[in-house]
Amino acid sequence: MNVLQASKGKLYAGKARSNAVARAGGQCRYLWNLFLAESVERYRVEKKFVFFCEMSARLPKLLKSYPKLDGLPHRAAQMTVQRLDDALRGCFKGSANRKGFPRFKRRDDRSDGFSFVARECRFEPGRVRLPKIGWLRVRGLSLPEGIDLGNKPVAVTQAPDGWHLAVQFDAPPKNYGAPQKPVVGIDGGLNDTLVFSDNRRVEAYRPAKKAAKRIRRLNRERDRRRKGSVNRRRTVARLGRVHRTVRNQRQNFLHKTTTKLVRRYAGFGVEDLSLKGLMRTRMAKSFADAGLGELYRQLAYKAEWAGREQRQMPRFERSTGVCPDCGVVGPKLLLSVRTWRCEGCGVEHDRDVAAARIVLLRAVPQAVREPAGGTRRKRGSAVRGGGRANARSSHGGSPSNVDRTH
Ligand SMILES: [Zn+2]
Repeated sequence: MNVLQASKGKLYAGKARSNAVARAGGQCRYLWNLFLAESVERYRVEKKFVFFCEMSARLPKLLKSYPKLDGLPHRAAQMTVQRLDDALRGCFKGSANRKGFPRFKRRDDRSDGFSFVARECRFEPGRVRLPKIGWLRVRGLSLPEGIDLGNKPVAVTQAPDGWHLAVQFDAPPKNYGAPQKPVVGIDGGLNDTLVFSDNRRVEAYRPAKKAAKRIRRLNRERDRRRKGSVNRRRTVARLGRVHRTVRNQRQNFLHKTTTKLVRRYAGFGVEDLSLKGLMRTRMAKSFADAGLGELYRQLAYKAEWAGREQRQMPRFERSTGVCPDCGVVGPKLLLSVRTWRCEGCGVEHDRDVAAARIVLLRAVPQAVREPAGGTRRKRGSAVRGGGRANARSSHGGSPSNVDRTH
């Protein structure tokens, strides 16, 4: 069984090639803004956007007539308007994964990027050749040997610490081995710690909390600096690097944790967390910092790769305060109540372990998709589509892929 995976690496280049990369990034940003402005204008008049077909058809002429777009590889331009098209469609009511209206990109955001398809690039150990840009050194990219990447996207993205490359590929998932433990129920979310029905726990890891003081100080420093000044730019860059470190630390932890869990257990019963609802509560900050949403996402796709069972408890069913031994539903528990005694059978329960056991009891097995070749994958399940989203989201599941670029 092949699954869609991604690997990332950091790009290194001499001055000329770095400039070529930055130039292509800037040109794609320019192109994005150009068409986005046109969409905004047309929507005002005709209530319609400019969509991919039209943008794509106009590209050849546009690339010739705008001196600013001179030398931009056609594929990069085409994939930029494709992303803009996705973004415009993604803001419609009722579209899956609804997002806000696409934004104009700014140079200061340092989030430029562009993509090619793999067959136009060449990959050799430690280096990659991009159309019209040439050979660049790349560190941290790991692709299976002799793999045919075909038309898979190759994304070049800008980050505070430089330029990165993300490559998608289809390959067999890594071997997770036979599980040592049966299916387990998980209760998690509000206290940021995962509690398992077999009494184990995974303590939350909150890198942003550790870095909070530095981030606050740098935020203040930035606000002191004059807009557009060199010093301000320096502070913003430093701030970006701190945020990136935090994200890398979190990803690293989550990948190690989820891999370990998938190796250990035969499957998982989880609550159907309404993440959006949770994010609006006052717990949102620590919840996001612990990365529980990302943890569940990784757990789901790795469980699928490993052929583990996946169960989900129907939404809005109560898990806390219900006795897993006799099924008596007790009164609602305050968050401060850690243990409680069942009114039916008199057993004393740890609040979270009992909840995890209830999740396990109530969770309904999810259909495991047939492990056949050419598995179709929904957006967002293993590797999120779209250049930027993809480049920042997932790795091939292996912790060794996590970019440690500091
Ligand atoms: Zn009981």
